[in-house]
Amino acid sequence: MSELVKHKMFIGGEWVEPSSGEYLESFNPFTGKPWALIPRGKAEDAKRAVAAAKQAFTSGPWPKMNATQRGALLRKLGDLIAANAERLAQLEVRDNGKLIAEMLAQLRYIPQWYYYFGGLADKIQGSVIPSDKPDMFNYTRYEPIGPCVLITAWNSPLLLLAYKLGPCLAAGNTAILKPSEFTSASSLEFAKLVHEAGFPPGVFNVATGLGAEIGEALVTHPDVVKVAFTGGSVTGSHVYQTAAKDLKRVTLELGGKSPNIVFEDAVIDDAVKGAVSGIFAATGQTCVAGSRLLLHEKIYEPFMDKLLALAKTARMGDPSSMETQVGPVTTRPQYEKVLRYIDIGKDGGATCVLGGHAAQRQECGEGWFVEPTIFTDVKNSMRIAQEEVFGPVLSVIKFKDDEEAIEIGNDVVFGLAAGVWTQNVRRAIKVTERLQAGTVWVNTYRAVSFMSPFGGYKRSGLGRENGQDAIKEYLQVKSVWISTAADVPNPFVMR
Ligand code: NAP
Repeated sequence: MSELVKHKMFIGGEWVEPSSGEYLESFNPFTGKPWALIPRGKAEDAKRAVAAAKQAFTSGPWPKMNATQRGALLRKLGDLIAANAERLAQLEVRDNGKLIAEMLAQLRYIPQWYYYFGGLADKIQGSVIPSDKPDMFNYTRYEPIGPCVLITAWNSPLLLLAYKLGPCLAAGNTAILKPSEFTSASSLEFAKLVHEAGFPPGVFNVATGLGAEIGEALVTHPDVVKVAFTGGSVTGSHVYQTAAKDLKRVTLELGGKSPNIVFEDAVIDDAVKGAVSGIFAATGQTCVAGSRLLLHEKIYEPFMDKLLALAKTARMGDPSSMETQVGPVTTRPQYEKVLRYIDIGKDGGATCVLGGHAAQRQECGEGWFVEPTIFTDVKNSMRIAQEEVFGPVLSVIKFKDDEEAIEIGNDVVFGLAAGVWTQNVRRAIKVTERLQAGTVWVNTYRAVSFMSPFGGYKRSGLGRENGQDAIKEYLQVKSVWISTAADVPNPFVMR
């Protein structure tokens, strides 16, 4: 226990112990062993964090700064992330089991969010309304909303944070981050960079602990005006209902069961790579995982031969090796959940043609590894096709024509993303129009950018992150009326 790295929370610009004095173990998924201790913050700590964020929002240097100055701070933060990308990537590998190859690319990309929203900070303009009333001048201004709670899932802590924190601070708000109890270390390390960039105390706070304890306390706190949440649909719905009691604003980035649809005219080799990237990259632990592969019946056999051949070559093992392609599952509960879903698939009548069990390879050691798993003979009504597994488990479903592909593609409660593989432009456009998903990729998969809106249809979420409009989720508009009339007209008549 004494060798474990003990972390503190970051509240009001200071590193503080949890009021409970309790800590949670954070595990290295590759070894299955704890390596760090994370403060178990509770309601008392939530109060401290919200008080710090409220104070920083209402007094001191932050509200006096203009948007250009806020933008400069965000760009400085981007520079610091870039300078520390390797260190943060290694930390995420250790705490999260993410692949070093993916984390290096991700950490080197994350600064772009801070550059983009830093640049946007002083380009938010109200407008002069051409008033229909005589002697009246009417204009609008966009104003920040107040202390915001940002809640992130464990699968990509710093990327999910960038989606929220960039627009939140660019708009002039303050933030309390509640990272997942399983992967808080990188967020706490990130707080050091926020401090170094020169953000005033209390503008950014990190309050760690259990969702049901400190998370709940933050969402219910009356001084919090907005909750930006990334996580599962069940928790998201609960957070939405809780926040509604105080009429807080909420944005939700939730789960998915995305169809990756391959038509008979697709470039098969490209689509095979797209199918593998859709489900086995990041060990399937991405909200946009292409977990339902819809194959046109004419290409089914040759496609499956190639898919199995490629999936079998996936190199599993140490996530800190640049050669590794499939790492461990990040948390023990998630590892057990993925294995349960594999049993559900088998019991439900699907045929397991690859994997289907925990990995017992020497290179996987004591880690939480699941073999890349493929089910065929899947009916879209099966649980394995309807429910989010969030692991390396693919359900393959045959279709006969475009109509059926669209119908199956849309026949889930989710609507986060979809893939379409075809060489026919007309088909690509028509199918894309009809797919109920916030993001559709054609002849590619898993592309995201700071400048492109991201979010879900149906039960995959509410609101959008990324892109110019994302900042409006953190702003409120005020309409200002100024009379230029020489006198005040009849006070009993509406103007
Ligand atoms: P989760 O269990 O819903 O947790 C998400 C976050 O909510 C965690 O920080 C969690 O803290 C916190 N939380 C739990 N209960 C809470 C409560 N009562 N009040 C406030 N916060 C609470 O999800 P997860 O297992 O971490 O993440 C996987 C899910 O996230 C998947 O469904 C995935 O699709 C989704 N996801 C969506 C996107 C997207 O952009 N659409 C991106 C990534 C992931 P604890 O961890 O401490 O419980």
